[in-house]
Amino acid sequence: MRRPIVAGNWKMNLDLASGRRLVLELRAALGAAPPLDVAIIPPAIYLFPMARAVADSPVMLGAQNCWRDSSGAFTGEVSAAMVKETGCTYVVLGHSERRHTIGPKDPAGGVHGENDALIAEKCVAALCAGLQPIVCVGETLEQRDGGETEAVLDRQIEGSLAGVTADRAKDLIVAYEPVWAIGTGRNASPEQAQASHAYIRGRLGRLFGQGTADDLRIQYGGSVKPENVVELMKCPDVDGALVGGASLKATDFAKIIEGCVRAKGI
Ligand code: PEP
Repeated sequence: MRRPIVAGNWKMNLDLASGRRLVLELRAALGAAPPLDVAIIPPAIYLFPMARAVADSPVMLGAQNCWRDSSGAFTGEVSAAMVKETGCTYVVLGHSERRHTIGPKDPAGGVHGENDALIAEKCVAALCAGLQPIVCVGETLEQRDGGETEAVLDRQIEGSLAGVTADRAKDLIVAYEPVWAIGTGRNASPEQAQASHAYIRGRLGRLFGQGTADDLRIQYGGSVKPENVVELMKCPDVDGALVGGASLKATDFAKIIEGCVRAKGI
């Protein structure tokens, strides 16, 4: 059985004191040996202090991004090895907030515009540094309504994982995050999530072999809350959650973890 993983993507939220408080509350809620993996994914500047905050606890650490090169003139970036040095186990790559524009209201345009080729290079760099990349894929509402979901998933999976060899693939995690469900309060239905997860697993099977794909964890992300987590996590191909907004309150995040444990019967 795949060990579920619930990770909280703080995005650019919380300050140091509230991050530390959240970790203390989470540690108290989790106990010594939860039957699943739990991670917090704070802003890069907080990785070292959060590594101290989670020390000697089951809470693991992830970064929200890394760069593809190992060193050089890349102002503002951090390499995969630097991320690893902070104590991270995971790194999120290809989040839709990095693939797409931040939003039309941003006067600066706010475009990160990361494409699959760049994400693939980052993914290989992360694996080489000993990190487990959480590679995000998912369609926009327009693409779903246009019947393009599977084509988008094909393109993103093939493109973002290009260069990942079958022997390295075991360290991958994929997060299915329909863009229309992120931060909107509107989650995918369990049926929609299961269909996309099964599709992704099949696609991973064609890339890396079905045995490897059957062992890979595929998280669902998009408006996961204490109220919807159990139904989503009951889906057989959903192996945990990547949680944004609801990971910023320890009580909600702990309820999501509990819900996942309950749904999986572990
Ligand atoms: C995310 O940012 O990865 C996410 C899933 O956000 P939210 O849970 O707030 O929709």
